[in-house]
Amino acid sequence: MSPSKYNCRVCFFPQKNPPWGLDGKAPTYGICPCCGVEFGYEDSTEEGIKEYRSQWITSGYKWFDESQKPKDWKWEKQPQ
Ligand SMILES: [Zn+2]
Repeated sequence: MSPSKYNCRVCFFPQKNPPWGLDGKAPTYGICPCCGVEFGYEDSTEEGIKEYRSQWITSGYKWFDESQKPKDWKWEKQPQ
């Protein structure tokens, strides 16, 4: 399984709406419940994505919204 338009670019968690729109050009500026990235800001460049992801991993994969965290969620299981 590879990441789709519905996956967060940073943590690959699948979103209800495509974070960058179906054409990949219209960010929603929503917040990922998993890594907390704001679509359209930190994930707008490849470097920004890597930077944000490494900070998030360093934080111990802390969820922005724990209430949306699936019980069996594991970083290792994300489509990367
Ligand atoms: Zn995310």
